[in-house]
Amino acid sequence: MAVIKIIDVSKVFSDARRKTSTTALANIDLTVDRNEFLCLLGPSGCGKSTVLNMIAGFDRPTTGTVSVGGGIVTAPGSDRGMVFQQPTLMPWLPVWENVAFYLNLRGGDSAERRRVAQRYIDMVGLGGFENHFPSELSGGMNQRVGIARALLMNPEVILMDEPFGALDEQTKMDMQEELVKIWQKNRGTIVFVTHSIDESLMLGTHVAVMSARPGRIRELIEIDLPRP
Ligand code: ADP
Ligand code: ADP
Repeated sequence: MAVIKIIDVSKVFSDARRKTSTTALANIDLTVDRNEFLCLLGPSGCGKSTVLNMIAGFDRPTTGTVSVGGGIVTAPGSDRGMVFQQPTLMPWLPVWENVAFYLNLRGGDSAERRRVAQRYIDMVGLGGFENHFPSELSGGMNQRVGIARALLMNPEVILMDEPFGALDEQTKMDMQEELVKIWQKNRGTIVFVTHSIDESLMLGTHVAVMSARPGRIRELIEIDLPRP
């Protein structure tokens, strides 16, 4: 079943003052089914982040439609979890409160929120660090906190924009393996932006290959490889 539907979407960024415009996306179509792990692969500037931002609701298509779970996307919402290259954690909150951030906004029983957060902290391998602050953790560990926070919302889709792009090679490989394990255990629909062919083949069940100038989806490949 389709969770994300992108239909004939174009995106033009106009700069009225300089009288210039950039066609970031030209008439793209893309469908993502439930429990697909789709990697959006392509060179820098081909429009990957633009696609992701429109699914997230941070940006709107110039023409065409983007829908998630049957509803046209007009704004961000809790049905879409985001993980960015730089984790957007609250430095004054300990790990568990960062993970429970959206639950905390909703209020309710604090012990219960903490229990739920702990489950996701353990899931990403951060058990024991729940009371640490982001500044006390490595980049990889901070990224894990961001992933746990997104997973906890149990969103319809998780959107990841080069989440491991700023990590060293070994940490990146560890995180990739863990993400595959988490996905294999829990499933869920993921759209993962990357410019690395290796990363997209290692992670994705599907790879949408984009080409630049103007941004188009060139091929959609289904990966049918045994996973570790
Ligand atoms: P990618 O994520 O593949 O690197 P982007 O989606 O960031 O590519 O960008 C696609 C194209 O759109 C690029 O040419 C970029 O310069 C342009 N672009 C992206 N965002 C904006 C913006 N807010 N204003 C103007 N141009 C933009
Ligand atoms: P990651 O792979 O999460 O980026 P690193 O490779 O930087 O972690 O660190 C390796 C291990 O060192 C971590 O898994 C963790 O057990 C430990 N570690 C990292 N930072 C801290 C810290 N601030 N306090 C205690 N242990 C830490």
